[in-house]
Parts: sequence; structure tokens; C-alpha cells
Amino acid sequence: MRPVDQKASVPASPVVLLGGTFDPIHSGHLRAALEIRERLGVEELRLLPCHIPGHRNQPDSHAQHRVNMIRLAIECDSQNGKTGLIVDTRECEQHHISYTVNTLLSLREEIGQRRPIIVTLGMDSFNSLPQWHRWEEILTLGHLLVLQRPGTELSQNAVIRELLQQHLSESLKELKETASGGIWIEEIPPLSISATNIRQQVAKGHSPRYLLPDAVWSYIKVQQLYGYQTQTLSTKSRNTE
Ligand code: ATP
Repeated sequence: MRPVDQKASVPASPVVLLGGTFDPIHSGHLRAALEIRERLGVEELRLLPCHIPGHRNQPDSHAQHRVNMIRLAIECDSQNGKTGLIVDTRECEQHHISYTVNTLLSLREEIGQRRPIIVTLGMDSFNSLPQWHRWEEILTLGHLLVLQRPGTELSQNAVIRELLQQHLSESLKELKETASGGIWIEEIPPLSISATNIRQQVAKGHSPRYLLPDAVWSYIKVQQLYGYQTQTLSTKSRNTE
């Protein structure tokens, strides 16, 4: 089975990834992905759900549910057309910890050494980079595009500071000109939404509606994810569903 759902983009255009647990996917991810795809002028951005994360708590919901929710969120519809967002399931097909370095190595085997790879990540994830498995190799395989995120400041950690001194690019577009090795920090319209907060709201019986696509919220209810129970949804929220 091909790990990517749709036809790959034309050679030479960068492969742009946004990795995460997507537990569940929400409008913060989707808006950021769309902004980046448009600002880079690329046709596709790949959402890359991990199966077993290496450096954080394990996801609440099974990888298959998280992939299903991503598919519902990015489905092309006749009124709004294609989103240009696709899902890359390669990490979910592996039954071991999803390390970014291994994912990039597998991608490099597929696309060769010359095509740029741009790994998009929120500033919170970037700040934790020095704890990632074989993190020093990541910039030899791709670029890092760091998104500002409400509530997170750039870490003052010496390793992060040195990395920026050595790798900070001149512009976002510059990341498209070489295969790897650059870092760029991009400001996007802030959306203070997190999957943790959504899971907590659902568990408490509150509605997370409008923080994520309606189709994803419906899926959570049908599958009873994150502690959702029909009877726990507070009367006030239920009346607004
Ligand atoms: P959790 O609350 O469970 O940690 P999350 O909302 O941070 O989840 P992830 O799946 O961990 O979601 O995020 C995937 C990537 O998207 C990470 O690099 C994260 O920093 C980034 N991201 C998530 N939400 C936002 C947001 N609202 N704005 C910008 N970046 C975001």
C-alpha cells in the first residue's frame, strides 16, 4: 500500500510535512497547514500522524481513529474544493516508536537527495528538539519551519540558540531553494487551540464545537472517544449541538 493517499507532487517542489499526534486534529493544525501551504506556494502539504510518539505522552485514541479524523477534516467537498492537505500514513504503518529522523530517512530513500523537505512544527515542539532521537541528523535531511504558537516563547536553551545562529535562513522562500539545513520561524494568525484542551472539554461533557471541523466532532461522538458519553454532555451544550 502506498503510504501517501494522493498522487505525489511534481518533482522539485518541496515535500512539506506537518507531523503530530493529531489527537484529535483541530482548526489550529488546519489553519496553520493551509497558511503554510499557501505562503510556500506549494500544491500539497502532508499531515503526518505519528503512531507511537517518542518524546511525549501516548495518544488517547488509536492511530486508525486519528487517521480517520484527519481524512474527514481534509476531505475535498464540491462547494469548497480541494484543501491541498493530504495525509501521509507511513508512521502509522510502523509498529514501533515514530522517530522523525527515521521518517525523513525513509522519505529521502523515496525522493532522493535533492528535493527540499520542509518539516513544519509548532514552537513548543521546536523547543523540545534537543530531546528528540538523533536530532542532530534532522537538519541534514530537511529544513525546519517553526510556527509561532500562542502561549509559547522561543526557548533560551543554549542548544536552540546555537542552532538558530548556524541555521537561520534569510526568508521562508529560501527553504525551497536547497534540500535541507535551514530553519525559519513564521508568524501565523494565532489560534489558541490545543488537542489537550479539546480532550478535556469532551471528557467534562462540554462541546468543543467550532474548535475543530464538525465532521471530526461527529466522529468523536459516534466512536465515543476522549470519554465522550451521550449522558455526560451537559444539557446546555447538548442544546447547542
Ligand atoms: P496536544 O495538546 O495533545 O499536545 P497539539 O494541539 O499540540 O496536541 P499536536 O498533534 O501535538 O497537537 O501538534 C502537531 C504540531 O502542530 C505540533 O508541532 C504543534 O506544535 C503544532 N500545533 C498544534 N496546534 C497548533 C496551533 N494552534 N498553532 C500552531 N501550531 C500548532
